[in-house]
Amino acid sequence: MAYLTLRGINKIYPNGFHAVRDFNLEIEKGEFVVLVGSSGCGKSTTLRMIAGLESISRGDFYIGGEKANELDPRERGVAMVFQSYALYPHMTVFDNLAFGLMLQGADDDVIEEKVEKTASVLGLSEYLERMPRELSGGQRQRVAVGRAMIRKADIFLMDEPLSNLDAKQRVTMRSEITQIHRQTGATTIYVTHDQTEAMTMADKIVVMKDGCISQVGTPFDLYFEPANMFVAGFIGDPPMNLIESRVINGRPDIPDNSVDLRNIADSELLAGIEGKEIVFGFRPEAIKLKAEADSEHSFRMTSTVELTELLGDSTNVYVDMSGIKSILKADPHVSPNIGEVFEFYIPYDSVYLFDKQTQKRIRTSEKRIL
Ligand code: ADP
Repeated sequence: MAYLTLRGINKIYPNGFHAVRDFNLEIEKGEFVVLVGSSGCGKSTTLRMIAGLESISRGDFYIGGEKANELDPRERGVAMVFQSYALYPHMTVFDNLAFGLMLQGADDDVIEEKVEKTASVLGLSEYLERMPRELSGGQRQRVAVGRAMIRKADIFLMDEPLSNLDAKQRVTMRSEITQIHRQTGATTIYVTHDQTEAMTMADKIVVMKDGCISQVGTPFDLYFEPANMFVAGFIGDPPMNLIESRVINGRPDIPDNSVDLRNIADSELLAGIEGKEIVFGFRPEAIKLKAEADSEHSFRMTSTVELTELLGDSTNVYVDMSGIKSILKADPHVSPNIGEVFEFYIPYDSVYLFDKQTQKRIRTSEKRIL
């Protein structure tokens, strides 16, 4: 059995709201698992059930193979870092870090040693005598992480810990938390609505939607092998282009292009989707321009430029294909004029097909060229 096992976990709040449904997950010791999804999808509820702050309505939760549904939060070996990092404002950084140990009645020299070690890992050594108001947002967040770390918990639970920071601090703290995880090796479950945080920090991502798990996988899996339209649209920035169309004679009815699904799907699959509504997907960054395209193994698309955004390392090109809108990511030197006809190529192995009704991926991998 895995270190942490959640089996058929459900949460029904007293008002009858079913916030988490049939949640199944195994977490290995030392893993960094990120629960990601839009606001309200049940991430915090799941985390709080793991912490013991919220009861489990149905299902089984195990820590180290032992049933833990009824365990008191203090007996679970968890430390939690919340979004609002609530430091004690009238205490120095040292005392904020030491407070938990003081409550446990630890000896002064033990406290001092642990505080200094934690502060050193977190780059806080020179701030130990400061008050929280004398720190930047990022430093305060580090103190909050330190308070959780110092308790030597086996399991770290983090609920949107970076959401109060500005964009730059978030990027810095992201890599700091990843490094701290590497140093401590503590099993970590991290909640965020930000797919970039999930992609950059996780060993394993759990994408949630409406209280259910949509897909579990490594960042690589979710990006390259999304199981459904929700994950395809959620992971990646800008998101995957998803175009609804009906398949007629093996071709989606998207105007003015060379898409022919016979190139990427076998006859059985083609027969199954003929006449049906599917969703044709491709990532903005997967497209090629004529000069660099392998035109033998790509679909040619014709579009009209509506807007361009130069980002520095790339240009986002917003295009229209007879009413169908897409975003393309191109080289920063590419700067087409608005209204210009823009031709681009989608390599066969960058095409994703989905069943419009079930929203599930239709696998075409037989003919993928990798
Ligand atoms: P997330 O962390 O993904 O934003 P939450 O787990 O906080 O989502 O909430 C999931 C859903 O459960 C939301 O619709 C929220 O309104 C609802 N919810 C959260 N707490 C309670 C509660 N105590 N009583 C009833 N509904 C709740």
